[in-house]
Amino acid sequence: MPNSKIFLNKNQHKRILAGHLWIFSNEINPEKSDLKDFQPGQPVHVHAHGGTFLGHGYVNPASLISVRILGYQANETLEDLLEKRLASALALRRDIYSKPFYRLMFSESDLLPGLIIDRFDQVLSIQLNTAGMDRQRDTIVRAVSNLLPVDGVVFKNDTRSRVLEGLKPEISTTGSVPETGTVREGDLELTFSLAGGQKTGWYYDQSPNRTLFAGMCAGKKVLDVFSYVGALAAGAARQGASHVVVVDSSRQAMDLVHQNMAINRIPQGSWQGICSDAFEVLDSMARDSERFHAISLDPPAFIKRKKDFQSGLAAYQKLNSMAMELLHPGGIFMSCSCSQHLKLSQLVDIIRKAALKKKRHLRILRFCHQGPDHPIHPAMDETNYLKGVIFRVD
Ligand code: SAH
Repeated sequence: MPNSKIFLNKNQHKRILAGHLWIFSNEINPEKSDLKDFQPGQPVHVHAHGGTFLGHGYVNPASLISVRILGYQANETLEDLLEKRLASALALRRDIYSKPFYRLMFSESDLLPGLIIDRFDQVLSIQLNTAGMDRQRDTIVRAVSNLLPVDGVVFKNDTRSRVLEGLKPEISTTGSVPETGTVREGDLELTFSLAGGQKTGWYYDQSPNRTLFAGMCAGKKVLDVFSYVGALAAGAARQGASHVVVVDSSRQAMDLVHQNMAINRIPQGSWQGICSDAFEVLDSMARDSERFHAISLDPPAFIKRKKDFQSGLAAYQKLNSMAMELLHPGGIFMSCSCSQHLKLSQLVDIIRKAALKKKRHLRILRFCHQGPDHPIHPAMDETNYLKGVIFRVD
């Protein structure tokens, strides 16, 4: 019978009692529970140093986050919980969304740590990010198929989290999965590559911010930097932007921008796509004295780990300063960051300092966050990762 009890070091139970779901390897008592004795993904009971039961979860000795808590009833297992938690996640989305396009399961926040599911009507894109969830692949597909009609699933298991868990990256499908997926966002229809796209294939987290920004673009010359497949750009054009310039370095994404503009009947002459490095494009636009009335900046995470903070910060500073240079007085500027380590106040500060240097006056119109299909776990700041600010820049 393998050991199934994890004991924490003295005083290491407080964060768990406060509702946090992660236990780090250095918090575990090696005399009472040696991580070497456990299998990756094995179910465990977690006890405080004194013996009090704290919760159950699964362990991975290969990962710095050694245990993820799943629940607080000693007699339940992950298999018991899966369908219940998925049903609760689905109920939340059905309450908020009228169409079946959303992130259905957001890992820790929806109390299934390590599991991401994006729903594109009857096609699902799933990421199994931990050894504990990787073991449940078939149970997950079965449970979700009991709750909603599922034609096919693509497993986008090529994440960095899997590497940290010692799991192999793999992309595979079950059932019927078309090459391209379709999303309905407002009155837009948008296409993307399912197995070959970035992340799960779609950035649902930015959906409300895209819609908000697009609504401010009527009659304006708009620049969408880090566009991915052009959801924001197509929205801005639909809302009456006079001209839209779209920048992304991914050839695949830019090919899909062309398709999405065509699908949404955006006239060819009213937009331009530039497939190139954003820093170079912004630099060359500044040299040519190009100006826009509205700019969106949505870069990839420049600070993936804490130790990248300074270099990442410098990249955000440079980018935001370059973008501000291109704004007409009275311009709208949406600047976002999906780096969990960069706080909203730090993002505001970056832009405030750039404006001071350039003698521009800023007014904050809105703070932006991940959409409600990416709920935030109140005890886990790690789940609160996407932030943005919309400014008017005079
Ligand atoms: N705004 C998009 C999501 C952007 S994700 C949306 O709402 O859907 C970040 C994008 O930046 C990706 O599409 C990626 O291809 C692109 N990218 C990454 N590095 C880049 C660079 N140096 N220059 C231009 N684009 C880049």
